[in-house]
Amino acid sequence: MTHASTHLSILNAMVWSGTEESPIERDIFVQDGILVDKPSTNSVDIDASGLTLIPGLIEAHAHLCFNAGADWRTVYDNDTSSSMLLRMVENGHKMLRSGITTVRDLGAPTELAVTLRDAIDTGVTRGPSLIVAGAPVTPTGGHCYFMGGEADGELGVRIAVRERVKARTDWIKVMASGGNMTPGTNVERAQYSVDEMRAIVDEAHRLGTSVTAHAHGVEGIRHALAGGVDMLEHCSFQTPNGSEPVAEVIADIVSSKTIVSPTIVGALSQQKNTERYSRRADLTKQLVESGARILMSTDCGIPNTPHEDLSYALEVMQDMSELSALETLRLATSTSAELLDLNDRGRIETGYRADLLALRSDPTKDLSALRDIEYVISAGKLVAL
Ligand SMILES: [Zn+2]
Repeated sequence: MTHASTHLSILNAMVWSGTEESPIERDIFVQDGILVDKPSTNSVDIDASGLTLIPGLIEAHAHLCFNAGADWRTVYDNDTSSSMLLRMVENGHKMLRSGITTVRDLGAPTELAVTLRDAIDTGVTRGPSLIVAGAPVTPTGGHCYFMGGEADGELGVRIAVRERVKARTDWIKVMASGGNMTPGTNVERAQYSVDEMRAIVDEAHRLGTSVTAHAHGVEGIRHALAGGVDMLEHCSFQTPNGSEPVAEVIADIVSSKTIVSPTIVGALSQQKNTERYSRRADLTKQLVESGARILMSTDCGIPNTPHEDLSYALEVMQDMSELSALETLRLATSTSAELLDLNDRGRIETGYRADLLALRSDPTKDLSALRDIEYVISAGKLVAL
């Protein structure tokens, strides 16, 4: 590591640990990027009176390589690897400055995603801690084929999984249905047979890695569940009329303990009072009330969803789910860490990573406080805003 170690004592803050029922006034001590219970001898004091500290936010579904604009595809197609990697670095900075200290990138050229993750981990560049899938596994011409992840047939998809493990990705992402951003694919139909889905999951689990499936329409969701995936992205039960959940499939999601990553975006707030919004809200409520394991995600990077979208999206999530602000906040901190199997973060507790967000008001009462940032600390280091 090239960084000098930083020892911090953050004093008199109101601290929400990520799990408790409300913030409590206490001091926080950081040593070498980790939360400890006592100040170290040479630690720097920071007075945090009047501030609320919460764990750094976790974004479970991002695309650092997209520019969030209507022209995303033209920009993507005209990129060189170098220009794309620079955009990924800059988008990571934007996310970190908005309080997001962990990002799971679920679709980018594999080499770029792995290179950036490692560069951040080793201090070559700054950014949020990255968990990466690389190029999603998709059939020839399937959703996001342009990321370089095409694979067909049971043998083909097993090879695709092995290639990603060899490249050291953290998750396997598979496109189980078509996607809205890839013309010629059908969101209502499955892209892979149940046998292909089973082969992907079997190979991934055998090699010790987890699988998340992009799935919009019910057929894609069914195939992903039958294949035994660990997580579903979107899970929107999309039809031409909006979300139309199927009770029996929701029951399957709950009984199989499959995690749902719902990709709720802030821009949905402009659609309130539409049929589409209330259908999506009903689905979200059903998932929460049925006891499905759910975390927070946005799909940031796609058009109309800037990389800093998470705080806005959390307000939409709260409105749709009818959870309290505090319960909603858990979905992007402690719950997210737990469901992503990141047992070193998501809480302000001794032994955890010092990923902290210092806010000028209390977000457990009103989520809009997430945009009133005093400072961000990532792995014990102060981030320049
Ligand atoms: Zn996505």
